[in-house]
Amino acid sequence: MIETIGIEVQKTEQSRIKEIDFHNIDFGKVYSDHMFVADFEDGEWKNFQILPYADLSLSPANTVLHYSQSVFEGLKAYKNDKGDALIFRPFDNFRRLNKSAARMCIPELPEEIYAEGLTELIKLDKAWVPDVPGTSLYIRPFIFGADNYIGIRPSTTYKFIIFTCPVGAYYSQPVRVKIETKFSRAFEGGTGAAKTGGNYAASLYPAKLAQEQGYHQLIWTDGKSHEYIEESGTMNVMFVINNTLITPPTGDTILHGITRESVLTLARDWGYQVEERKISVREVIDAAQNGTLQEAFGAGTAATIAQIATIGHDGQDYDLPPVEGRELSNKVLKALDEIKTGKREDKFNWIYTV
Ligand code: PMP
Repeated sequence: MIETIGIEVQKTEQSRIKEIDFHNIDFGKVYSDHMFVADFEDGEWKNFQILPYADLSLSPANTVLHYSQSVFEGLKAYKNDKGDALIFRPFDNFRRLNKSAARMCIPELPEEIYAEGLTELIKLDKAWVPDVPGTSLYIRPFIFGADNYIGIRPSTTYKFIIFTCPVGAYYSQPVRVKIETKFSRAFEGGTGAAKTGGNYAASLYPAKLAQEQGYHQLIWTDGKSHEYIEESGTMNVMFVINNTLITPPTGDTILHGITRESVLTLARDWGYQVEERKISVREVIDAAQNGTLQEAFGAGTAATIAQIATIGHDGQDYDLPPVEGRELSNKVLKALDEIKTGKREDKFNWIYTV
C-alpha cells in the first residue's frame, strides 16, 4: 500500500460554483469551494486538512502581518477534452517554493505534502477548472510564519495553504512598458530570486508612477547601474533581435520563471538561436531604433506571453513591430496553449494529470 499523509476532508455543504460565469471571469472575485491547509508546529508538518474555503482568524501580533516572512507560488490547471485537470509543471513550482522558503528561513516542505494536498484539492474541485478557451484554474500555494510574536526572528510555527480560483485571459492587449532606471526590484544579495511578499510590495510604487505616465508595466533594470535589463513587471522578459532569442540569465536578482524555462526549451528544440546573457538597455534601444528588434515579450504563468507593443526610455517611446508578425512568440504561445490543454504531445513531460 502506498503511504499517504492522511488528509482529513471536510466538504462544503453548499458549493458556490454557480456564482461564477466561466465565460466572463472576474479575476480574484470568486475562489473555489475548498482549500488545503497544513501546520508546522513542534518542528514538523502536521494537521493535513481540506476545508471549505473560508477566512482565517489571525492575531494582530501575527508575525507575517508585520515582517512578511512568507513565500508563495502561482501555477495553473487546464481542462482537456476528456474533462481531466492538467496541471502545468507543478513540481517545478514545488522546487521553487522550497528555494524561496530556504531564503526566508521557512522550514522545507516535504514533497508528499505538496503533491497529495494539491492532487486531492484539485480532484475535489475539478468542476472549478474552466474549459472555455483562454481560461484556467489559478493555483496559489503559500507558506507564512504564524507565530503571534512581534519580536523579529524566524517564526517557530507556519501555515501552508493551497487555494484556487478560475481565471480568464490576463493581458489581452499588447502592453506599453517603461524601462525603470531609478527604482529597483532586486539587488545582488537580496531576495529577488525568491517569491516572497515583500518583493511585490516594493514594486507597487514604481509601477504606480509608471502607470500615471501612461505605461502598463515596468521593465526592471539591475539595482546597481540600471544599465542591464532584468524582468518585466512580474514576468521574465525576452527579446528577439536579429532572429536570436535573448533573455537575461536568472540568478540572485531574477526569478527562475517556469514559463521562461519552457519558452527557452521550445525555442531550442525548434532550432532557434537562444542566448541567456546580460542584455543592456542600450542594446535594446539601439535594436529598436535600427529595426533589428523583432519581438519583445514578458513570459510568466499569468499571461504565458505578454506582448510588448511600446518601450519607453528616457522620455522617448519606441514602437515595436506589429504583434501579428512576431513568429517566435506566437508559435510559443500556440504550442504552450496546446500542450497545456492536451491538444499537443507533451514531449517534455510538463503535464501532471488529475
Ligand atoms: N518574475 C517574477 C518576479 C514573477 O513574480 C513571476 C511569476 N511567478 C515570473 C517572473 C514568471 O515566473 P513563472 O513563469 O514561473 O510564472
